[in-house]
Amino acid sequence: MIKLIAIVQCDITLERCPGFFCDRAFVNKTGGFEKIDYDKNTRKLNISCGGCCGKAIHRKLALLAQKAKKFDNIEKDEILVKLASCITKDNYHGSKCPNLDYITRLINGLGMKLSLDTHVSKKAEERRASGVYEK
Ligand code: SF4
Ligand code: SF4
Repeated sequence: MIKLIAIVQCDITLERCPGFFCDRAFVNKTGGFEKIDYDKNTRKLNISCGGCCGKAIHRKLALLAQKAKKFDNIEKDEILVKLASCITKDNYHGSKCPNLDYITRLINGLGMKLSLDTHVSKKAEERRASGVYEK
């Protein structure tokens, strides 16, 4: 069971987006949350990637894992890092993150659980399928 979910959002997208749909997908267990093992006691926080090139996410998540263990006895493997759909997919806000592979390597290097996607918009899925957005 996941005890803490850390949603990582694109710093550029957050200049406009309040993250409402990420939160909604978490609460309703839809989109990228559908198959995740969590319940109403699971905590959730949102953090930005820290800006391009995404390097800051390494130290942010390392500190998160340290504090979660020290203060609430949450083990690293009880934390799930969720990359928001604005990082993982071409969408209304722009193309997917050009540093996605790099960010993925950083998180894997920390030994943390990683999962892609948060809110998955039906319209954006249609646009990706029809070629308006990249897949
Ligand atoms: S996935 Fe959507 S709701 Fe979540 S931060 Fe990105 S643009 Fe905002
Ligand atoms: S590194 Fe990727 S996710 Fe972060 S601000 Fe740049 S484009 Fe957005």
